[in-house]
Amino acid sequence: MDDAVDLEGEQYEKHREAGRILAQVRAETADRVEVGASHLAVAEYAEDRIRELGGKPAFPVNISIDEEAAHATPGIDDDATFGEEMINLDIGVHVDGWLADTAITVDHSGTPELVEASEEALEAAIDVVEPGVETGEIGAEIEAVIDGYGYNPVVNLTGHGLGHWEQHTGPNIPNRAVSQGATLEVGDVVAIEPFATDGGGKVTEGAKEEIYALENERSVRDRRARQALAQITEEFRTLPFATRWLETDRAEMALRRLKSSNVVHGYPVLKEEDGRLVSQKEHTLIVTESGCEVTTR
Ligand code: MN
Ligand code: MN
Repeated sequence: MDDAVDLEGEQYEKHREAGRILAQVRAETADRVEVGASHLAVAEYAEDRIRELGGKPAFPVNISIDEEAAHATPGIDDDATFGEEMINLDIGVHVDGWLADTAITVDHSGTPELVEASEEALEAAIDVVEPGVETGEIGAEIEAVIDGYGYNPVVNLTGHGLGHWEQHTGPNIPNRAVSQGATLEVGDVVAIEPFATDGGGKVTEGAKEEIYALENERSVRDRRARQALAQITEEFRTLPFATRWLETDRAEMALRRLKSSNVVHGYPVLKEEDGRLVSQKEHTLIVTESGCEVTTR
């Protein structure tokens, strides 16, 4: 960005507001992740709190268990409860389409070092962010910290830029050292999200799918599919949504129709391919003249 970037401008204020709401909701929600508690109750608690505090969920609360790394969220009438597991919560807020994205891992599996590895990696990454830093340098910090714990970073998941009504834009922020990367500039809004694992360090798509997003807006004949599409284009636009957010009756069937006609696409749950544990920690930040401002502390 050029000299004209005004970090006090309205869009940045909305990013900050989204971040403030999200920091509070993350803390309150993490406290509710106890053995025996319901996934659905925790997700709905977080999503309701976001709305009460004046934001909107930017995507369904992701509750990923053990080898799951991302894209898991409770289905309609989901009856799963937390066990003695590693639980990643990934939560997003937007204010008028300006986003904040954060994640925290709650460990009930007895593997606290794996959580510390991704937390410390994120702090090391944030420490090197300033105008001119290459994304590969950020990745190198993440990799070094996680490697120091004797774990592996998940290398095929990355941080990302946050656009207006867009959860993932460039640049990618890798979780390992890469030689070719983008350069961050003042005014960039990015999410950095190290994932650490005691497995090999790659995720692969599972069979489960509960999160969707609009792909091609086009007319559909089925009444329920049409109702669902109207809500999607009005309320979520191109941001991800959950089946349980749809107000039409027989939402699962409506969604199958929208998917089969390529109006929406799904996000399959991503799992560590060796079936090992995954921890995650994420913050959103704004690159400033002197470094960066973390919006989700
Ligand atoms: Mn996230
Ligand atoms: Mn993210």
